[in-house]
Amino acid sequence: MTIKTMENLFVEQIQDLYDAEERLVKALPKMAKASTSSELRKAFENHLKETEGHVARLEQVFAELGQEPKKTTCEAMKGLIKEGDEMMEIEGGAVRDAALIAAANRVEHYEIAGYGTARTHATALGLTGSAKLLEQTLDEEKEADAKLTQIAEQTVNEEALRRPKTRTAR
Ligand code: FE
Ligand code: ZN
Ligand code: FE
Repeated sequence: MTIKTMENLFVEQIQDLYDAEERLVKALPKMAKASTSSELRKAFENHLKETEGHVARLEQVFAELGQEPKKTTCEAMKGLIKEGDEMMEIEGGAVRDAALIAAANRVEHYEIAGYGTARTHATALGLTGSAKLLEQTLDEEKEADAKLTQIAEQTVNEEALRRPKTRTAR
């Protein structure tokens, strides 16, 4: 898409977020399955449901713009998910859980940045309905990020530290 106006830019950002969310809908069940901690698994499953809602909200934003939902490849989310896939290769246990949280927190922060900016642009363009929808998702991303951090701090990290250390040459 040729970006000349703020409206073009906004549309491009929504298309990017739409692609990012759809990638996450596919990745989150794998993250849940790779979790050892049942609390972490539930958090991923819960965020999967929310993420499906994020896709639906973006479709409402497209509707307010009078456009068909369209995706442009989100290279950043592709990369973040690839890093998450690498974490899944860690031998099962709490260290893998800590690694999954590390990857997921990166995803949430990326989304927080994307939705924060898109919300601000929607407000600037006078798209009040869209601004509200984007803000709702923004709040859920912030909550998901905080929840993951809480799980890390309250259970997973401690559990991971209890694992026997492997010998490393020093
Ligand atoms: Fe999301
Ligand atoms: Zn992107
Ligand atoms: Fe998210």
